[in-house]
Amino acid sequence: MTLERIAEKLEKGERLTFDDGVALFRERDVLAVGLLANRVREKLHGDATYFNRNMRLEVTNVCVASCLFCSFAKLEEGAPGAHTMKLEDAWRELEARLDDPPAEIHVVNGLHPGLPFSYYEELLAGFKRILPTIHLKCFTAVEIHFFAEHYGMTYADVLGRLQRAGLDSLPGGGAEIFHPEVRTRIAHDKATAEQYLDVHRTAHKMGITSRRSSIAWITCCGSVISRTKPMAYRRSFRSRSIPTATGCATCPRLPPSTRSARSRSRASCSTTCRT
Ligand code: SF4
Repeated sequence: MTLERIAEKLEKGERLTFDDGVALFRERDVLAVGLLANRVREKLHGDATYFNRNMRLEVTNVCVASCLFCSFAKLEEGAPGAHTMKLEDAWRELEARLDDPPAEIHVVNGLHPGLPFSYYEELLAGFKRILPTIHLKCFTAVEIHFFAEHYGMTYADVLGRLQRAGLDSLPGGGAEIFHPEVRTRIAHDKATAEQYLDVHRTAHKMGITSRRSSIAWITCCGSVISRTKPMAYRRSFRSRSIPTATGCATCPRLPPSTRSARSRSRASCSTTCRT
C-alpha cells in the first residue's frame, strides 16, 4: 500500500518526504522499488545513460584514523602493507594511459600525518601538466577537514590552494552514517557529520562540485532512519545547488547554451549530474 502511495506521488511529480524514504528502505520488494526508481530516471533522462572513464588512485593508505569498517588503512609508514606513492609514480600512472586517456582521476587517501601539504598540490598540478583536460575529483571532505586541522588552515584556504593546483571536484567518500551515535561508534576520530557538510558547503560556494557516498551502509550497524538521513541531507544540498560550468557537456538537465559551450564527451558526465 505504501509503495502504491509513493508511486502515485512520483507519477504526479510530488516531492517524497523523509518518511517515504524510510518506507522505501524498509520495502522488501526491491524489484518494485527499482522499477519506480527507473521510471523517475527515464522521466529525467529518457534513454540516455551516463558513464565515466575514471582512473582511481590511492596515493597513500597511511591513516591516523581508525574507522571500524576500514580494511584499507595502515596506521603508520613502515607497517606491513603501508604505501605512499612518490609523485613521479602517481604521474606515471596517467602517462601510461595517454593513448586512451581517462576523463577523470579519482583520488582518495588515508589521513597521512607526515606529508607536506605541497605534496598534494604538486600531485594535482602534475596531472594537469600531463593532461590539461583531465577532471580532478580528489580528496574526500574527511581529508579536507584533516588538512585544515593538520596544516592549520581554514576549509576555504585548503580548497583554494587545491583548486589553484587543479582540483575540479570532491568525491563523496567518508560520509558513511551521519547519526552521531552511529558515527561515533564506527568512525570516532574523523570529521563529524557537521564538519563533513561544512566542507561541502564551502566547496560549493567556491564553485567546486561534490558528491556524497557511504561505504559503511552495508557493513555497519546504521538503522534505517540513520541511513535515510544522509540522503535527505544530500537532497536538500542538491536543491540549493546551482549547476556550474564544470558539469557534463551533454547533460539534458543543463541549459542548452551551457551544453553547446562545452565540448567534453558524455563519457565524462558523472562530474555534476545531479541525478
Ligand atoms: S579515514 Fe578513511 S582511510 Fe582512514 S581509517 Fe577511516 S575509512 Fe579508513
